[in-house]
Amino acid sequence: MRAPVKLFLASSNPGKLLEFRALAAATLSSASGTLPNALASSVEIESLPGFSSLPSFEENAPTFAENAAGKALHYSRMSGERVFADDSGLVVPALGGAPGVYSARYAGASATNAKRIEKLLGELREKRTSGRAAYFVCAIALAEHGRAVAVVTARVDGEILESPLGSGGFGYDPVFYFPTLKKTFAELSAEEKNQYSHRGKAFRKLLMAMAAS
Ligand code: IMP
Repeated sequence: MRAPVKLFLASSNPGKLLEFRALAAATLSSASGTLPNALASSVEIESLPGFSSLPSFEENAPTFAENAAGKALHYSRMSGERVFADDSGLVVPALGGAPGVYSARYAGASATNAKRIEKLLGELREKRTSGRAAYFVCAIALAEHGRAVAVVTARVDGEILESPLGSGGFGYDPVFYFPTLKKTFAELSAEEKNQYSHRGKAFRKLLMAMAAS
């Protein structure tokens, strides 16, 4: 049995910490068939100590992968720890890829999820497009002492509904219809979302990349 692997998350968002911990627990408990034995040890996820007092990283890159890698490299340099960071968002091809890397600030920095959804539905109505295909993307990067160890991305495909449905999840979940389960992401259980989401898939890829490195 190998010693636990400790990963520090570069985020001040307690929800993200809980989500990644749940993903790690779920992945490792069901991993025997899908992950190499080298990863049978536990992965412990902690918040990066002193995250909020470290110089912040500006997420201004045009791609999710660059933002995640930049953040992980920056905070691993600042802290000397093994740090992982993510960047995620919704991509709507009919809107030229918007909201994309601007997903969190699509309707302004302090807007609510409801306002972001309203803006998204308004833009789609204005376009008068029938193309409502969309996908969520998640990029996760792992870095140690300012060196990139792995950068992975994953996506999940769906469609944007004309009005919100469901009360779970966060962000754009209530308008993201997932045909595989015939539900919106806001109607999924936490287990279902972890199984199918861009974040769940990206996290599993990260564990595979770690096992291979
Ligand atoms: P960040 O990864 O913390 O920069 O956040 C990206 C933004 O993308 C979030 O604020 C949400 O608006 C959106 N987003 C990312 N992942 C999801 C998801 O799983 N469901 C709904 N919205 C998401």
